[in-house]
Amino acid sequence: MAWTPRTAEILRAVAAYQLAQEALAAEFADRWAEALAAVEAREIAGSLTELEAAYVAAIRESAAASYTLSIAFYRLVRALETGRVIGGPGYRPGASLGPLWADFNTLTGKRTGTGPREVLPVDTRNPFPAADLEREARRAEETFLNQVADRVEKHERERPAREGSAALDDAGLVAWEKEFLESLKTGGSGAGGMLVQDAGRDAVQLALQDDPGAIGYFRATDSSPCYFCALMAGRGAVYKSKRTAAFGAHPHCHCQAVPIFSRRYQLPDANDKFARMWRDFGGGSLADWRTYYSDLY
Ligand SMILES: [Zn+2]
Repeated sequence: MAWTPRTAEILRAVAAYQLAQEALAAEFADRWAEALAAVEAREIAGSLTELEAAYVAAIRESAAASYTLSIAFYRLVRALETGRVIGGPGYRPGASLGPLWADFNTLTGKRTGTGPREVLPVDTRNPFPAADLEREARRAEETFLNQVADRVEKHERERPAREGSAALDDAGLVAWEKEFLESLKTGGSGAGGMLVQDAGRDAVQLALQDDPGAIGYFRATDSSPCYFCALMAGRGAVYKSKRTAAFGAHPHCHCQAVPIFSRRYQLPDANDKFARMWRDFGGGSLADWRTYYSDLY
């Protein structure tokens, strides 16, 4: 008997997955803020080694959680959409929707769904890439260099002139230091949070390329996406035969890639809304769309 995709359940899983990935980025941001708060502005240049170690370790941990979560999500969505279970990390023989939901619920920390214990047919293939820890560490170090170390160096160079400036009183200097710390917090958490979620996004993207059962993906946005992400989400499914373009996430972006296994998939309401907005916009440059979108949204 043909399997009927469990569309409502899939949409609930998608929403829970997006929120859980966003929460992982937020958890990383909190840890980074904590590490920064432990250092005085004037001591930052001397604490870069410790800060980098804290930054890289926090990314590694949250990225590992993002990776594991994305595989449980992929397996669950695939089973809900096709009635078949895929192998790979976390696969257990005799899988059914019940345990797949249970795994997903555990990783998201929320009971989003449950399912029957009726054993499903298995595709033993493992399409999931192994986590590339070295590459991940390298990206985290590069990000730290750009977002933190380089900025600190520039800030230190500017300090003597600031301190010598008659136009700036003590309060002005304190504000200047504070603003700088704030910029390290925001820049570091945006770029680091992207790496955290990329661990999950990359796993999904690479898996669907290597999974004959997958036909493409769509973009699930957060609750207030930027004009670019809204546009991408409004375009709906990206079929893997036609386009293999990169996902195109950016700092402070919490969009996720959702794999599609059946032409009978359903998009979240938000994606349909963005598609409608784009039609009403009627076409034009990206800059025009940006203005149109930010006026409405
Ligand atoms: Zn986004």
